[in-house]
Amino acid sequence: MLSTDVVVVAAGASRRMGGIDKLTVSLAGRPLLAWTLEALAASPVVRQLIVVAAAERVTELQDRPWLRSLGARVVAGGARRQDSVQAGVAASDAELVLVHDGARPLVTPSLVSRVAEAATLHGAAIPTLPVGETLKRVVGNRVEGTVPREGVAAAQTPQGARRELLEGAFAALAPAGSEFTDEAALLEAAGVEVVSVEGEATNLKITRPQDVELAEALLTARLGPPRIGQGSDSHPFGPGDGLRLGGLVIPDAPQLFGHSDGDVALHAVADALLGAAALGDLGGLFPAGDPATRGIDSRELLRAVVARLVEAGWRASSLDLSIVAARPRLGSVRLQAMRDAIAELTGVEPDAVGVKASTGNLDGPEGEGRSISATAIATVVGTWPSG
Ligand code: MG
Repeated sequence: MLSTDVVVVAAGASRRMGGIDKLTVSLAGRPLLAWTLEALAASPVVRQLIVVAAAERVTELQDRPWLRSLGARVVAGGARRQDSVQAGVAASDAELVLVHDGARPLVTPSLVSRVAEAATLHGAAIPTLPVGETLKRVVGNRVEGTVPREGVAAAQTPQGARRELLEGAFAALAPAGSEFTDEAALLEAAGVEVVSVEGEATNLKITRPQDVELAEALLTARLGPPRIGQGSDSHPFGPGDGLRLGGLVIPDAPQLFGHSDGDVALHAVADALLGAAALGDLGGLFPAGDPATRGIDSRELLRAVVARLVEAGWRASSLDLSIVAARPRLGSVRLQAMRDAIAELTGVEPDAVGVKASTGNLDGPEGEGRSISATAIATVVGTWPSG
């Protein structure tokens, strides 16, 4: 197999979406582009993902945790599709380049393999589907004729070609005025033979607002329902300052006592995630008393839990954390910082992470300021099959 990178075209203007940015529009709880990249990354033939975005969006996209966790690179595109694709191809040194629309989140690993295999064998390949409906030529509201359907097919992506064929076509044609709506059109114009493989009817391109609904229904059906888990924990205050709570360090508050750094909030989150995936609990993964984890930063424990979830085919999709503490003061600034820290550690979108605190009128050890407790609820959803 040739080394294979995917150039993901995400530089379009979402013209038919009625003001919605189609790349970051929420699809079953996460951005459309995140689904697309995850689906491509699940393909065993793909080495690297290169996202081509409008120049002014490169930094914003680079900072998205779901993009970073896949090791995807972001490069600036150009005015026309072919300029963007050319920039993406230039950023790759793979022998085979697949070009995929960022707005096709339902691409499957088997389609990616099919295109890659055919392009390896023949030089260039694209997925197509026969056209089911009768085709009409319509001008305004006037039907002017019927277009013969025979031999007509609709082209999808990913479209694949050996890199030297793409580079040759760019060198010969891209500087000229013509605009190419897909990579095959560019290759055809350069005289390269392109073969067709069978596309997938579910490989929708999100173009209009109603496509979002359809894609969401398909994704939900494919991944199954979310699962829910619950976690709770409580630690007493111990000697020394430097409280660890919700992934933050609060220097002027006393530490919680525990085998680890005592971050009761992250422990509750970790247990909720493990519970949702039925993977046991934090104490089972990291037994208290193990000298290797004495005083360990709980952020490391949570990262390890998230990695364990991913291995088992799950991804955290939402979190709700409640902290019960009479001290220290947990105002909105600290709660928001916790939310951001937990989003970063778990890969959950910040707007799907709830962090709240009960601080007044408390009973028991929390009310007496002797301990802090936390409970969390998590949902997880299945990820793409890696086959
Ligand atoms: Mg604990």
